[in-house]
Amino acid sequence: MRIIRIQDVCRGIACILLSLLVSNGAFSAEAGPAEIDYDITVRIDPVARTIEGRSVITASTPEELTLMLGRRFETMHARVDAAPLGPSATTGRMRAWRISGGQPVPRRIVIHWRGEFSALDTSLDHPQTLGRDEPASSSAGTFLPDSSGWYPYIAGKLASYRMSIELPSGQRGIVPGRLVEESESDEGYRASFEFLSPTGGIDLMAGPYKVETSAMRGAGGKSIQLRTYFHPQIADLAPAYLNSVKNYIELYESWIGEYPFTEFSVVSSPTPTGFGMPTLTYLGIEVLRLPFIRSTSLGHEVLHNWWGNGVYPDYAHGNWSEGLTTFMADYAYKERESHDAAREMRRGWLRDFAALSPGQDAPLTTFTSRTHGASQIVGYNKAAMMFLMLRDLLGRETFDRALQAFWREQRFRIASWADLQRAFQAASGQDLHMFFDQWLTRAGAPVVRIAEAGRTRSDSGYRVTVTLEQAAPTYRLRVPVAIRTEGGEELHTLDLESDRQIFTFDMGARPLEVTLDPDLRLFRRLMPDEAPPILRQVMVDRTTTTVLLPEGGEARSAAETLAGKLQNRALKLVSVTDDLPPVPALVIGLQEQVDAWLARHQLPGRPDIIQGKGSAQAWTVRRADGAMLAVVSARDAASLHALIRPLPHYGRQSYVIFDGAKAIRRGAWPTRVQVVKLD
Ligand SMILES: [Zn+2]
Repeated sequence: MRIIRIQDVCRGIACILLSLLVSNGAFSAEAGPAEIDYDITVRIDPVARTIEGRSVITASTPEELTLMLGRRFETMHARVDAAPLGPSATTGRMRAWRISGGQPVPRRIVIHWRGEFSALDTSLDHPQTLGRDEPASSSAGTFLPDSSGWYPYIAGKLASYRMSIELPSGQRGIVPGRLVEESESDEGYRASFEFLSPTGGIDLMAGPYKVETSAMRGAGGKSIQLRTYFHPQIADLAPAYLNSVKNYIELYESWIGEYPFTEFSVVSSPTPTGFGMPTLTYLGIEVLRLPFIRSTSLGHEVLHNWWGNGVYPDYAHGNWSEGLTTFMADYAYKERESHDAAREMRRGWLRDFAALSPGQDAPLTTFTSRTHGASQIVGYNKAAMMFLMLRDLLGRETFDRALQAFWREQRFRIASWADLQRAFQAASGQDLHMFFDQWLTRAGAPVVRIAEAGRTRSDSGYRVTVTLEQAAPTYRLRVPVAIRTEGGEELHTLDLESDRQIFTFDMGARPLEVTLDPDLRLFRRLMPDEAPPILRQVMVDRTTTTVLLPEGGEARSAAETLAGKLQNRALKLVSVTDDLPPVPALVIGLQEQVDAWLARHQLPGRPDIIQGKGSAQAWTVRRADGAMLAVVSARDAASLHALIRPLPHYGRQSYVIFDGAKAIRRGAWPTRVQVVKLD
C-alpha cells in the first residue's frame, strides 16, 4: 500500500484566494486574535447523512468580505448585523455572498444552514478521497473536508473558532483544537472545541470511536493531552501510538521549540487516507495497522504542527513546509538509523529525480502541494536535499539555531522561503542569496562531471589534477570529491562556480582514483551511467514506444491493458520486427517471445538475479544508444493478466519478480558513482 501524506492548511478555493491576498500584501497573520471568528454549533446524523448548523461570524475588519458555503447546503436564516444577506453567486460547487466594506466593526453575520452529505465510499483510495473534496458520512465514519464548504466561512481569511458538535450516542467527533468539554447522555454525544489562533480551515471527523487519553508535560510546563480516536477493531493499538506521539513531541520541542498546542490526537479513518492537521492526524485504519507507521509517517505528521500548521507556508511563493518536514522527520530518522540508511534515502531521491522526463520538473517556488509523483520528487525530496546541503554548508549547530529563531519569530504567521533565508543568514552571518536563488527559482538540477583527472610526480610526492565541468546554467556548488591513495581516502570539498575548473592537490601517498560525490550529498542530475534505469521512466516519459509481442488472444489483450495502465495515455506502438527508435521503450510478452525478441535485437538477455524466478518478471535495461528499455515477461496469459493491478506501483524499481499478483522480489540496479582511475 502506498502511504500519502498531505499537510492541510488550506485547499481548493480557499487556498487560492488566500494565496492571492498574501501576494498582494493585503494580509498578514498576527499571532494575536484573528480578525475573523466563528462560533459554530452543528448537529450531525451520520446514518441519515444530514447536518444542521448555526454559525455566528464576527468580523473585526471593515474591508469587503466574501462569505462562502458549499452549494449542496441550504441557508434557512442569514443576516449581516440587522440586514438580510444579499443575493449569492455560484462558482463551481460553492456559493458566494459579497459583504460590502466600510461598515462599523465588529460586524456580526448569523447563518443557519442544513444539508446532506454523500455516502462514505470506503473503496476509495487516497488520491480519490483527496480528489473528491466532498463531505461524506456513514455509521463507520464521517469526513467533512474544509474545501467542501460544509460550514460558512470567509474566503481568504485565517480565523479562530469555537465549534460544538452534536452526534448520536456511540459516535465521537473531533475538529482541530482544544477539547473544552464533552458529554454523553441518552440524547447523544456533544463536544466543544476551540481554536483561538488564526487558522486556515476546519475539517471535521466523526466515527464510532473508542477514545484513549494520556497526558504529558510540555517543555514550557504546560499540560498536553494526547488522544487516540480509534475504531474498535484497532483499539488495542492505542497505547503504542500514544507513547510514540509523546516521544515525537519531546524530540521536536528540544530541537525546535515549544509545541504550539495543548493536544494531539491520532484519528482513524475507514478510508485508506492520510492527512495532517493542526493538533491531529487522520490516518486510515489499515494504514495505522502497518507496523512501520509509528516510526515514519506519524512523526512526520506530528512535526507538521511546527512546519505547516504552526508556521504557515506562503503558498504564492512556494510551500517550504513539506521539504523541511521531510528533512527533519523521514530523513532524520534514517540518519538516526545509520549512515547507510540515510545515504540510501538520498540515492532514492536522486534516482527518482533522474527518472523525470524534461518538463516534468518545476522550480520549488511553484510547489504548493503534492498532486502527483513529480511534485513529490521536487516539493518534498529536492527541498529536503536543499536543507541537507544548507546544513552541510552552515554546520549543524548554526542550522538548528536558525530554525529555532525562525520558529520563535514566525509562529502562527505566514512565512515564505525568503523568511527562512533571512533566518539562516542572521544565524550564520553569511549572504545566502545565491544559494537560495539557484535552488528555488530554477527547475532541474546541476549536471556535474569529472572531465579529466591525472597524476604527476612532484618534489614532495604526487600532484593530482582534477577538472570538473558543469552544464549551463552554472550553479555555485560545493562538490565533494574523494581521492583514494595507497595510504587511504581523502575527502575534499571543491567550490565549483563556472562551467569548467581545474583543481590541484599535492599528496604524499600514491593516488589511485578520484570519485565524484561518493556519498551523494549534492543535489544534481545523475549522469545516465550513474542513475540506474527504473520502471517509472517508461511510465512517465511521453515519448515512450511500446512493443506488444503476443499477436492475439488473451495474452494480447492482457499485454495491451497492462501497457495502458502503466502509461495512462494513448500507446505509441512499434511492430515486433521494427528497430526501436532512440527513445524509452516498453516491451511486453510471454517468456519465449521475449527471449527471441531480445536476441533478435541484440539486447542483453534476462539478468541473472531474476532468471527462472516467479510467474512473471519486469526489468530495465540501458541500451547501447543510451535509451532505456523496460521488459515485462510472463509465463502465460494469466500471469500477465495478474500484473495489471500491482505492476504500476513498482515504478521506483529496476526489477520486480511476481508470483501471480504478489511481488516476491524487487530492487534497483546499483548507482555507479563517477570514478576516474589515475595512471
Ligand atoms: Zn507532509
